[in-house]
Amino acid sequence: MEKEIVYVIGHKSPDTDTVCSAIAYAAYLKKMGKLNAVPAVFGDINPETQFVLDYFKAKAPVKLESMAGQKLVLVDHNEKSQSPDGIEEAKVIEILDHHKINFICSEPIIVCAEPVGSTATLVAKKMMADKKFKITPQLAGLLVSAILSDTVVFKSATTTKTDIEIAKKLGVKAKIKNLKKFGIEIKKQKASLKGLDAKKIIYSDFKAFEAGGKKFGIGQIEVVELKEAKERKIELLEKMAEIVQKESFSFAALMITDIMNEGSEILIAGDIEPMEKAFNKKVVNGSVYLEKAMSRKKDILPPLMKAIE
Ligand code: MG
Ligand code: MG
Ligand code: MG
Repeated sequence: MEKEIVYVIGHKSPDTDTVCSAIAYAAYLKKMGKLNAVPAVFGDINPETQFVLDYFKAKAPVKLESMAGQKLVLVDHNEKSQSPDGIEEAKVIEILDHHKINFICSEPIIVCAEPVGSTATLVAKKMMADKKFKITPQLAGLLVSAILSDTVVFKSATTTKTDIEIAKKLGVKAKIKNLKKFGIEIKKQKASLKGLDAKKIIYSDFKAFEAGGKKFGIGQIEVVELKEAKERKIELLEKMAEIVQKESFSFAALMITDIMNEGSEILIAGDIEPMEKAFNKKVVNGSVYLEKAMSRKKDILPPLMKAIE
């Protein structure tokens, strides 16, 4: 008899790490006979991830509308506010992640979390430690793409030695000659805002958080130059103000990260005080530029959380 299906799934607004880690970890769990694992995704695949899937001729994960009633392995997130809809009525049996832990459950489960640059690093690490498992060129390609994407081609403050070492090994297996060049090619896929409305831009990589009894949201887009996004600042801020209202957020921020110049223009709608306090900089006309800030979880979130609490 076939074992019960367990979906391996990442966060809402799926990114390349969420999608590729789900595919690869499900393949590993299934192959090793640990679980009848099936990769899944919630929401639309972004252009960057689609480029990676096409490049390595990989199938997109199953698209689920709700998690209710399902058994799940969560990858690349653990906070319920970032999980697909229906998480409250699902059974999470395992978590594999590289973010701060904010997960409460009533039963013991498997949790593997390490402060590395991507979940894909942890998936690859598990595969490499397991002598019985052979990483195919396709899986290596998906995983190295996810590492390059999440670490912004090793430029993000989240990058560790482990990420770089593992990416190099995967790059060889996937026959990628120049990792940095390939990484920039991947990042450029999502870098154009043309044809995207403000809502799509804001929600393309958006996460909700809670601190000090307040809810807030931070989105992030990566661009190769700030000009195009700056031209749409008013439109973006208007949409963000609507989101603040609708979601009862104290504020919403959008990090527009310039991957070439390594810094972020931060747009803020709602209460600007936490942001000003966190970075000791004035918000002017709804935005502030932060040099070297490329990572939401390392460069933005910790000072912001401190300012709020
Ligand atoms: Mg992610
Ligand atoms: Mg990640
Ligand atoms: Mg990310």
